[in-house]
Amino acid sequence: MRADLHVHTTASDGTDSPEEVVARAASIGLGLLAIADHDTLDGIQPAVEEGRRRNVEVMPAIELGTEHRGQEIHILGYMIDTGSGRLRSELAFFRDTRTERVTRMVHRLNKLGFPISMRRVMEIAGRGSVGRPHIARAMVEKGIVGSVEEAFDRYIGEGKPGFEPRLKCTPVQAVHIIRLAGGVAVLAHPGLSPDDGLIQALIPEGLQGIEVYHPCHAPEVREHYLRLCEHYGLVATGGSDYHGKEDKKHNRLGECTVSRRVADRIRDLARENRVKAGINQESGIGEGDPCGWPTG
Ligand SMILES: [Zn+2]
Ligand SMILES: [Zn+2]
Repeated sequence: MRADLHVHTTASDGTDSPEEVVARAASIGLGLLAIADHDTLDGIQPAVEEGRRRNVEVMPAIELGTEHRGQEIHILGYMIDTGSGRLRSELAFFRDTRTERVTRMVHRLNKLGFPISMRRVMEIAGRGSVGRPHIARAMVEKGIVGSVEEAFDRYIGEGKPGFEPRLKCTPVQAVHIIRLAGGVAVLAHPGLSPDDGLIQALIPEGLQGIEVYHPCHAPEVREHYLRLCEHYGLVATGGSDYHGKEDKKHNRLGECTVSRRVADRIRDLARENRVKAGINQESGIGEGDPCGWPTG
């Protein structure tokens, strides 16, 4: 059984709905998916329900965007307690900072003479957390650019005239948020901004894994992070970082997978974390939880 532990949906910046992602997973024979949307848990429940119909296990997850020394660092949180009030309020804060940033960017683009509206950008985002891809799609719609890629390259990528930074938390804060919600914190795609010192610094803060298998990692990069995992006793995770069939990066669902054992190890760690975090099993991965993982 293969598991893809890094998948986005329309709940954040993916272009496939949670149901579509699960249906696609079933059609290519994936047994387990972790829905890891940016700063939101909204894609999890519908994916779990579709997963039940199609016999695909869905693991609850999240991807938090953070900043460290000017670099964007993503932290994945697996098996978080989706009922945690504290986690939800932290996520609401993240979402507010996203909306506020997009507003500033739309304003900048307007000043550059591009007639895109915040209302349309929010419509494109739907109920998902709004981000730059939604601005890009609004620009394509208006014929300002020919593609989402071009929007990033010319106007909204880092350092481009329409760019505005987002207020972000630090990787340490993200790891703490995930651990307080009983989750397993994993450094996402470290090959995109390599910093082994950061990994060392995050381990005592509660980091428990590294995303070793990711489409952007060349074989020697995987080898390097696999060795680090073995050295520090971290779990080596992996996933496609799929953002939908219309995404500019064209990551294919199931492009990077791990075995069931990895998912089991994450589940075991989460069970221990919950005990340490003092999370009531009843309100956690118990009956109230949409994923229905056994609590042991
Ligand atoms: Zn990421
Ligand atoms: Zn991602």
